[in-house]
Amino acid sequence: MDNTCSLTAETDNLITERRNSIVTTGKNKSSICCTSDSLAGAVSQRACVFCGARVVLNPVTDAIHLVHGPIGCASYTYDIRGSLSSGSENYRKSFSTDMKEKDVIFGGEKKLAACIDELVEKYNPPAIFVYSTCVVGMIGDDIIAVCKNASQTYGIDVIPVESSGFVSGNKVVGYRAAGEALYKLITPKEGDVIEKTRKLNFLGEYNLGGEKWVVERYLREMGIEINVAMTGDSTVEALKKSPGSCLNLVQCTGSMHWLANKMQEDFGIPYIDVNFFGADNTAESLRKIAEFYDDPEITARCEALIEREIGAVREVNEKYRKKLEGKRAAIYVGGAFKAFAIIRQLQDLGMEIVLTGTQTGKQEEYERMGRLLSEGTVIIDDANPAEIEKFLVEKKVDVMAGGVKERFLAYKLGVGFIDHNHDRKDGLIGFEGAIKFIREVYATTCSPVWKYMREEKGGSE
Ligand code: SF4
Repeated sequence: MDNTCSLTAETDNLITERRNSIVTTGKNKSSICCTSDSLAGAVSQRACVFCGARVVLNPVTDAIHLVHGPIGCASYTYDIRGSLSSGSENYRKSFSTDMKEKDVIFGGEKKLAACIDELVEKYNPPAIFVYSTCVVGMIGDDIIAVCKNASQTYGIDVIPVESSGFVSGNKVVGYRAAGEALYKLITPKEGDVIEKTRKLNFLGEYNLGGEKWVVERYLREMGIEINVAMTGDSTVEALKKSPGSCLNLVQCTGSMHWLANKMQEDFGIPYIDVNFFGADNTAESLRKIAEFYDDPEITARCEALIEREIGAVREVNEKYRKKLEGKRAAIYVGGAFKAFAIIRQLQDLGMEIVLTGTQTGKQEEYERMGRLLSEGTVIIDDANPAEIEKFLVEKKVDVMAGGVKERFLAYKLGVGFIDHNHDRKDGLIGFEGAIKFIREVYATTCSPVWKYMREEKGGSE
């Protein structure tokens, strides 16, 4: 198909300033407006820098995560990611300096230092991440100096994460702040000797519902070990060994490309982009990794694994394709890499994608998306609930893949829903995840409940 897009004509009743962020695939070329800050009042999910930093760093299991700010910011806590741990549960505790009016007027540095003292005494953590929030940035607390002082006192990494929400209306800026904090943590200190290994690091993998463990099992079968994922089920000790790995895999490119490039420049570690969502993507990613190692034994094991696993997915796909063919689907997820995977999986089921979008997509990613979709598909950048609702109804969507915030919107409109965002507690990765995804899509799209809902509303379609 033609990969050009035109501005969507049907944007009446929507916020005028958002017009250029909504396009329809078609003949007349027009670029989508993306990567800008969220529009005030639009109530989208791109807005908080602190939230971006927190989703990336929070899965570091044995670190203490201390939010320097009013207690409200700390409501954004461990349950924003369904990350699992095989060891420490420190990351599930939520700490805040709970700044009050007095701290805002007279400064919160002393309170922050006292909190760090208390946390070290109680938990003896290997590292503490200190997140700055809006108010801290406004009043100018010097969290860098407080963290440096605490690091020297206790001999552990106390790392400032410069994530004041107001710095930008875009959580991608928080991804970068998290990347910088991780880079500070993993950069060897004077005298540190990091052993070089044939292990790899898996960047942009957050172990939702144990997803890292699935890929780890595949790689182990091929004869390859993961040193550490960034940051799902990671420990401070394993993160510090990451400069010794021979390869970085990057799955969530939006959150980790900056760090992957930095590690390539400074530690000489090459990286490759991978995507383990969907059977074909999984097979392609495993083959790319085997190719990097260039070892006949690894290649043979990789092919044997793919042959054993992919047949089962194809069988399930064929079975449910008969029931799902022609159904209309919508996708709204955080990053583009996930949207690409879902588009491919739903198209394999014979479904038509009529609406898609992401919270943090870039220009070139939206262009690629346009090439994958058929003419007339609406693409929205940084969508808000009113926009999603409008197009779910107008495009007569049968099922939506999105995050927890879209779930109830879809249900109330009588649309099937599948949770595919970072707050999910169930893994959808790899070959087994692909089978689970297909079954979930079928179960929700073809659920009899929608028929009863329509009858309740007076039988209208
Ligand atoms: S950092 Fe700022 S935008 Fe983010 S939750 Fe706190 S007050 Fe809100």
